[in-house]
Amino acid sequence: MKESRSVTQPSVHRAKSHTGGAAPSSGDRLREECGVFGIWGAENAARLTYAGLYALQHRGQESAGIVATDGVEYREHKGVGLVSDVFAGRALETLRGSIAIGHNRYSTTGGSHLQNAQPLVVNYREGKIAIGHNGNLVNALALRDEMEGKGSIFQTTSDTEVILHLIARSSATEIERMVPEALARCQGAYSLVILAGDKLIGVRDPRGFRPLCLGRRGDAHVLASETCALDIVGADFVREVEPGEMVVIDGQGVRSHRIFRAEAQRACVFELIYFSRPDSVVFGLSVDSIRRRLGRRLAEEHPAEADIVISVPDSSNSAALGFSEQSGIPFELGLIRNHYVGRTFIAPHQITRDFGVNLKFNAVRRILDGKRVVVVDDSIVRGTTSRSLVAMLRAAGAREIHFRVSSPPIGWSCYYGIDTPNRRELIASSHTVEQIRKYLHVDSLGYLSMEGLRACVDRPDDHCYACFDGDYSVRFGEEMDKLALERPRARTAETS
Ligand code: SF4
Repeated sequence: MKESRSVTQPSVHRAKSHTGGAAPSSGDRLREECGVFGIWGAENAARLTYAGLYALQHRGQESAGIVATDGVEYREHKGVGLVSDVFAGRALETLRGSIAIGHNRYSTTGGSHLQNAQPLVVNYREGKIAIGHNGNLVNALALRDEMEGKGSIFQTTSDTEVILHLIARSSATEIERMVPEALARCQGAYSLVILAGDKLIGVRDPRGFRPLCLGRRGDAHVLASETCALDIVGADFVREVEPGEMVVIDGQGVRSHRIFRAEAQRACVFELIYFSRPDSVVFGLSVDSIRRRLGRRLAEEHPAEADIVISVPDSSNSAALGFSEQSGIPFELGLIRNHYVGRTFIAPHQITRDFGVNLKFNAVRRILDGKRVVVVDDSIVRGTTSRSLVAMLRAAGAREIHFRVSSPPIGWSCYYGIDTPNRRELIASSHTVEQIRKYLHVDSLGYLSMEGLRACVDRPDDHCYACFDGDYSVRFGEEMDKLALERPRARTAETS
């Protein structure tokens, strides 16, 4: 343990750390990446895609889009904002066709502009192609520099466009060969839905960082980031798209291609801890049951003498219930979340500055007053939100606060599709647990151990834990942040 010292609020820098740095995220949470959905063979494909995106809204709130086709004409509608805003009015009625893909975006590479909204649609020599991407390519900058050096012109600053260019430049003539050839040059995380001609294609990268599942709705086939999107359209879960697998769906049915040799799998463990919806099955695991396991294990590792257990809703609810079940301390709703806080176009920063965490949460004095409280949260990023919540709980009369975290300390940035602050902004990268405890102003603080986390997931060796241990399975040779593709860059030497 480092010598204990007073803890100040971590400074916010935009500069990159020597280990590389994701762009600073705007809040004190890791941000979801994107949600993708695709359907083949349904009369009202765009409408079903809308419902699927609605269920996946938690994975991205910056923009949304749908592309629909009858196999010949491609019709698209995209916009900045929530799914319900983007498709308000009669937008869906124009999206005719029995095949569609959709995308919710939270930018992890490329800024938050309409031009970066997905699915991206382009003309190439075989006709139209559309793509929706969940994940992050770690070599997008190098690939783009190489292609721009040869005269390619990019319309967006999204890494996804790099994939489209690679597909368009493929020497193959059939899409089922063009896609693997293009992806062979891509490194990092990608779960993709692609429309090409009358084909719907789903692909997962060889390590399987991000989820993608296959479902069936009558005669229609469905692809979705999470099973909650299958549920909303009444589709049955068939199976996961496997890491390194490409599924091609057309009039002949579903064909599976193993396009990459098997590599060590690295399913993002944070999907289970925080990102995915608890009612989803992700990587073959019930998210709710994993979170309850995390909470039970946390109670074993860091018991507390307390009167009630509360969660930081909603993502910590299942873990808090697990803690309560294991400890026997009753679960109460001590914090209430305002579900209607979304993106606002009315001076959002000013509103956040004025009201801070009060905008999103309120404490229930009747439940908290005079109580010794265990607060279960799924993670601590910068620590600023946790600190504000603790102050709120104390103001509502909590006598003692025992903060418990259902994941290990986050000390490293993510390069595989999650928006994390620069490493130096992560409080656990530079502070001991005791220092964080003092900063939060809590009576005790306990994080789940790495051993505990690994014990709670099935097939522990098949997950990525890099934001906890810095063990990056796909290396990146250059500093990469989500705005890197926005900046003018000197022309580089051609690399191939
Ligand atoms: Fe998930 Fe963390 Fe790995 Fe990123 S670094 S893929 S958030 S486990």
